[in-house]
Amino acid sequence: MAAPRLPAAELVDYQGWRRPRPAPVTVVQIPDTAALVCELCRQFYALGWVSGTGGGISIRGDEGIFVAPSGVQKERIVPADVFVLDKHVLDRPVITRAAADTSLRLSECQPLFWNAYRLRDAGAVLHSHSLWPVLAARLAAPSGRGVLRLHGFEMLKGLRGKGNTEVVEFPIIANTPHEAELTESMVSAMSEHNDVDAVIVAGHGLYVWGRSWIEAKTQAECIDWLARAVVEYHRAGVWAAATGEVR
Ligand SMILES: [Zn+2]
Repeated sequence: MAAPRLPAAELVDYQGWRRPRPAPVTVVQIPDTAALVCELCRQFYALGWVSGTGGGISIRGDEGIFVAPSGVQKERIVPADVFVLDKHVLDRPVITRAAADTSLRLSECQPLFWNAYRLRDAGAVLHSHSLWPVLAARLAAPSGRGVLRLHGFEMLKGLRGKGNTEVVEFPIIANTPHEAELTESMVSAMSEHNDVDAVIVAGHGLYVWGRSWIEAKTQAECIDWLARAVVEYHRAGVWAAATGEVR
């Protein structure tokens, strides 16, 4: 016997699929922060930062910490897909509102995001799979551990507390089979480099945060620009990994 068909009004176009309408979520239950997470995911997808379902974003709002779901097409998520977690509990994830679609999972980046909320009082944390920091880190530290040293770039001004005459070092940590296994090495890198708000994961991507989502996004854009500059300057034969300078 054919499966009973739901009336069209009960179906919803959800990430390209016609599915039963999820449990109703009112406008009151979808704070603007969830919509902002979705908007930023679309922007970051366009930049190549969250392609192939990778990467992620979280923002601390009045109602809690808003986190994009794991392993989905980030550019297609809607506010009801965003998880909300207790912003006062930073030693483990406490979900206060799960995604309306129960097949969605909390981001695997959550323990890494929580490092920045717990240790740096961050207002937002991004995880980018952009190619530029991956390439720049490979040039700076072929072993997969070390620092990406930068000097002589105007865009350094976009980093918290930095000027364009400073030497800035971003820590590079080795990748692991699972995202959560990066947690401890990220903590060590953060304590050794507490003057910067980002950690690069070799062959993988970048975690970057800020006191607000605007500062996190600004710093993410500046680091991406700087990493791309390193790659292009290296290609031109004028970047020195030892000093981070343009020759
Ligand atoms: Zn990742």
